Amino acid sequence: MPSSPRNRIGEVYGQLTVVRASERRTKAGNAYWWCQCTCGNEREVPGDKLSLNTARRKPIVDACETCARERQVEGVCIKNDREEKTRRAQAQREREQLKGLVPDRWLMLPLTDAHARELGQTLFFRGTRCLLGHLAPYRINGGCQACSGQTPSAGDLPPTKPTAS
Ligand SMILES: [Zn+2]
Ligand SMILES: [Zn+2]
Repeated sequence: MPSSPRNRIGEVYGQLTVVRASERRTKAGNAYWWCQCTCGNEREVPGDKLSLNTARRKPIVDACETCARERQVEGVCIKNDREEKTRRAQAQREREQLKGLVPDRWLMLPLTDAHARELGQTLFFRGTRCLLGHLAPYRINGGCQACSGQTPSAGDLPPTKPTAS
């Protein structure tokens, strides 16, 4: 005998509030519920996806499809942002070590590909070597400038002596 589903109307899961029962059943016989999102959209959600237990492995639903998608995009941006910050900080550290070893103008270049794009420039210098061991600026979309023969690699330059002050 299928048991009648627990009445979940009024329960809140993230942005969703259960507003009414649905006729639909999952293959396993679970009831679907109509939920209203804080944005006003409604979404039909199987009862087993409405959970407050975020630690469990099964995916949960806690927003309408539009809001869930938006949040996903934001999540990706936040992650990319964090990675980009790390990349720039790393490039800054690498470049600190290279003062006097590479042309000063390289140290004035943007730090990363994204940084160059932000500034409307085409070259950047992360202070790292390319796969062939060159130490040279990179061109956005183009790779190492020493590889493309546009700049000699600084990798083999002897360290310049610090100027006596
Ligand atoms: Zn929504
Ligand atoms: Zn190279």
